[in-house]
Amino acid sequence: MKSHKSKSSNLLKLFPASESIIQCKNNKFGCSKTGKAAKLFLHQNICTYNPYTSTYNRESYVRTLKTKGYLCRKLSYNSDNETKFVSFNNSFLKDLGLQFFFKDGQERIQIQAFSSVPIFQDISFNLIFMTDISFTIKGKLNRIHKFPLTDNVKKESIIRYKITVSFKDEPIVIE
Ligand SMILES: [Zn+2]
Repeated sequence: MKSHKSKSSNLLKLFPASESIIQCKNNKFGCSKTGKAAKLFLHQNICTYNPYTSTYNRESYVRTLKTKGYLCRKLSYNSDNETKFVSFNNSFLKDLGLQFFFKDGQERIQIQAFSSVPIFQDISFNLIFMTDISFTIKGKLNRIHKFPLTDNVKKESIIRYKITVSFKDEPIVIE
């Protein structure tokens, strides 16, 4: 009887715990969103601070970072149905000052990437849209790139993407 009682009091403790405020799972990539577990679950599906992986080529000194996520087209529209550039990926914001923006359109989506860090201005990236016909943008920072929409993609509200970022990361030699 005594063990049964302690079991039920443990259950009572669990319920308030789920109401506590927790951090987004992408917190270490820079997302500052907090909330109750149920609300954060929804946010994490469209969080723009997606985790990335890093690989390093010791011969060419090229570092390659990869991430993936979902671009939600309606985020580009304001209440007057006008489009503007909004960020859809902030995975590299914390470490490279790098953000990817898009502006929606009927026939094409415009893409731009910027870094606030001077040494990363030469970054090149590959942005792949995983649509019916996958489309790759081989991009540079501070330019507008265009993703032409096929008839099938025009109907889609969410578009899956992958980003690969690469840059020279030479070891520091102390003489
Ligand atoms: Zn988040």
